[in-house]
Parts: sequence; C-alpha cells; structure tokens
Amino acid sequence: MSAAPPAGDVDRTGRAAVVEAARRRTFAVISHPDAGKSTLTEALALHARVIGQAGAVHGKAGRRGTVSDWMDMEKARGISITSAALQFEYRDAVINLLDTPGHADFSEDTYRVLTAVDAAVMLVDAAKGLETQTMKLFAVCKHRGIPIVTVVNKWDRPGKDALELMDEIAERTGLTPTPLTWPVGIAGDFRGVLDRRDGTFRRFTRTAGGATIAPEEQLTAAEATARQGEVWTQAVEEAELLEATGAEHDQESFLGGVTTPVLFASAVSNFGVGALLDTLVDLAPAPTGRPDADGAVRDLAEPFSAFVFKVQSGMDAAHRDRLAYIRICSGVFERGMVVTHGRTGRPFATKYAQQVFGRERESVDVAYPGDVVGLVNASALGVGDTLFTERPVAFPLLTTFAPEHFAVVRSRDTAKHKQFRKGIEQLDSEGVVQVLRSDRRGDGSPVLAVVGPMQFEVATHRMEHEFHAPVALDRLPYNLAMRTDEESLPMIASSGGVEVVRRPSGELLALFPDKWALRILQQRHPRATLEPLVAAQ
Ligand code: GDP
Repeated sequence: MSAAPPAGDVDRTGRAAVVEAARRRTFAVISHPDAGKSTLTEALALHARVIGQAGAVHGKAGRRGTVSDWMDMEKARGISITSAALQFEYRDAVINLLDTPGHADFSEDTYRVLTAVDAAVMLVDAAKGLETQTMKLFAVCKHRGIPIVTVVNKWDRPGKDALELMDEIAERTGLTPTPLTWPVGIAGDFRGVLDRRDGTFRRFTRTAGGATIAPEEQLTAAEATARQGEVWTQAVEEAELLEATGAEHDQESFLGGVTTPVLFASAVSNFGVGALLDTLVDLAPAPTGRPDADGAVRDLAEPFSAFVFKVQSGMDAAHRDRLAYIRICSGVFERGMVVTHGRTGRPFATKYAQQVFGRERESVDVAYPGDVVGLVNASALGVGDTLFTERPVAFPLLTTFAPEHFAVVRSRDTAKHKQFRKGIEQLDSEGVVQVLRSDRRGDGSPVLAVVGPMQFEVATHRMEHEFHAPVALDRLPYNLAMRTDEESLPMIASSGGVEVVRRPSGELLALFPDKWALRILQQRHPRATLEPLVAAQ
C-alpha cells in the first residue's frame, strides 16, 4: 500500500460524481442464519468473476463464513461478527455488497449496515419461509423505506409450495410479491424457471459443488413444453394465475416499498445468481442525494460528504488498528484528500483508505457516492459522524435501536481502571454496546445495553483481550426501555422494579422488567412521559 495519492487525472467534478453514482448499486442481503447468505455472496462474486472459483472467498471447509472470522470466539462458534463491503463490476454497473454480520443473536451493528444501502435482497430458505431474523431486518428496511428484492433459495431441496410462499410473504411483510421468475418443478425437483418477462424457460443444471458458473440454458416455451411436459404446463398455469391476481412488477411500487420482485434460486449451484445481478442492475435504485439533519438534500454533485456507519478495531493481529467505514453520499473521494470531521471540526487525512472484505484489503484511490471506504487510523471517528469537504453538512444521527438486555459492568482488576474506561468508551463509540449511566450506581459501574445478548460476550472478550481489563457482568432483570424526562422521574421513582439510566446524549431511559410493569406505571401515572424507542423488530 502506498501512501501517495494516485498519479493521474481524477475527474473531481460534480458531474463525475453523478455519472459514477448512476452506475452504483449498493445493497445488503438480509436473511436468517443458514438461509445461504455466504453461499450467495460467494456465488455473486464468482458470477462477477472477481474470484476464479467458488470457495476462494469463504474457504472450502463447510463454506461457513470464514471470510470474516477474525476473533477466536467467532472461529469457535463458526459465526461472523465483522462486516465489510465487497465491490465488483457487473455489466456497466459497480455493485457494492455490504455484509450484514449474521448470527442467531443480531446486534445493532447488523441493523446499522442497513443505513448505508440503497436496496436489500431478502433471502428466504424455500423450506423455512420467513424466519425471525429475516423479519427483524425486514422491519428495519421497511422503516427506512429500502426497496426489497426477494430471493427464494434452496429450490433444489424439498420445501414449501411456491404459491404458499408468496402468500406468506404477502401476509407477513405486507409487500405484494411480483415474481420475475417462476419455478418449473416443485422444491426438490428443480427443473429451472419460467422467465415471466419473456416467457422463456431457463433450465437448471447442476455443477459439481457449485464450483463453476452453471451455464444457464435458455429455451423457448415450445422447447420447454416438449422437454418438460406437464411440469412446464403447471408452471405456465401458475404464472397465469399470478398475472390474474395482478402480481406484476411495477417499478414505482417496488421503489415505494409496496411490492417486492421475487426470484427463485439455488445459490449453491449458482442458479438464479445471474438473474439477481441483472435485477439489481435493471431495477434497484442508484444512490441519490441524502437528506441532512435538517432535511435538506445534499446532492450527489456537491463536494465530498460521507457518514461513518461502522467502526471496527483489532481486526486481526497483523493490523492492530481502528477502521471506520464510510458510505460516500456526495462528490468524489480521492485517497489522500483531507476532509473535515463534522463533530470536532478537525481535519482528517485519508491517506490510508481501503476496501475491506474479510481479510482482504486493497487500497482505494478514488470512490464515488454509494461506495464504502474503510479509513485506517480512524480513532477520532465514531459511528454516525459526518465527513465533508468545502460546504459543511451534518447527516442525521443513526438510529439506535431499543435495547432489550442490560447488565452492569465492573472491572475485575481495580488496578486496570484506566484501561477499563478506555475500553468501555471504545465499545460505546463503535456501537458494540450502548453505555448508560445510572446515578444510583455511579460512574465506575456503567450499565451496558444491547439488542442481542451475544454482544455481552463480544464486549467481555474484547475488554479482556484487547484492552487488558477483565470485567464482570451482572445481568439486570429488565427487558424494555422507554424514553422519559426529568419531570417524570418522581413518578417513576415511586414505582418498584424500575430503574432510570442516562444515555451519553443526556436522554433518560426508564428500564422495565416487562410490558406489564410498564402498563402498571402508565395506569398509575398517566402523565408520566414514557415513549417507545425505535424497535429493531
Ligand atoms: P448463511 O448462514 O446464511 O451464510 O448460510 P450459508 O451460505 O453458510 O449456507 C448454509 C447451508 O446451506 C450450507 O450448508 C450451504 O451449503 C447450504 N446452502 C446454501 N444455499 C443452498 C442451496 O441453494 N441449496 C442447497 N441445497 N443448499 C444450500
């Protein structure tokens, strides 16, 4: 990696930013663990020929998320906690695939990635339908108005009926599914798909272990009838049924979050992957200007601006540094440029700008709206911070989700007081945990709040191994946080079993063991301010 800015003539005009942004498709895959996200990511990358053979990204052994495994704990559990972005070109487009770290216990981190994308691919296991984590992530996309493309995966294995799956999607998400392809053969007897746009048959062929791109053979309807007989006829009939119920793609309804195009796939065989890429390029939105904190839109052509959506440190032993991932919102980014850090007003040099995907790092010379860049040595940058050049801008703070698990954290070694404070501050600024202060408990024993309890394990592990400040956590018996204010404090204090804590912003949160305790307090003190936070579900 060279620290020097790139030689040559980068076009830094607003026009260049607009033209390049129009080519970008920035999205994430939302799914429940095991639905096939890693397999699909690998297949997408393979399709775009960024890697020669499937397996190069994820490692052959089990193909389980090895790409982002950087912590011992992750390895032991076979999960991935980090997130990064994969960039590749496809047709005339530049695809940015942001990883949503997936494990049973999602963290705020996962949801936050969704603030940096323009579209999402909802990956559904054909046998399991819509699972809990998919629904949680879907709720965040809906809240943010992100258009969603649905992919029904694992059609090569026995699963649900296709029409039933469409009903399930409609009922549980409220989106009208508009299949672009329709399966020929029931789940487990995957013959291929009927392409509803041109009525052709795309035949499914297996490749050994999905190691190479399966040739997608395209046949006419007449050829399909001759070869597939009844199975094809049934698919045609079902497709007609869909047509009769108005399940047709409409670009405006898709972008407006009313409908979701659906594709049927077998990621492990790379089938349907090309169709997904085509759908993203043809239908998914390119980046547009982003509203600032006052609601005024920062146009793509304006000078450079970006926001930090993720901060990560201690990625691996060889790179003990802190990375801040930014999503570019306007203008042209050039490595070496000096930008202003909105929160402090200080300059920040972007000498070391990288693209990071798992362990792979490459330096980035130029980037445009929609792109993700990892900034190295970014110890001053926190999640939600804005960076800009020339004309100042502040993007809205990222949503913090309603935490559902709480614990008091204490240093196990009083001599490590300094390390303890530093570590807790770091975890807070990375958004690994929300750090809350309780007047009752004092500054030495902050309350950690998380969306998923596994974040406690991450925090404990990092405090010990990264900051050398071993900690003990005492779980608190609360599951519900509500926003409150100073005036309501006496009313809340009179209720047993409720605790009030303070966010770093000064905002007060009342913690309840359950919704019944909240209801009792609301009945007793109807005038107390108790407002819900943005839920992650
Ligand atoms: P993730 O947890 O969502 O990243 O899921 P993985 O990509 O690790 O896939 C989970 C399991 O499902 C693995 O054993 C994959 O090989 C398997 N799998 C993924 N896609 C398909 C598919 O299309 N068909 C079949 N039969 N198996 C699949």
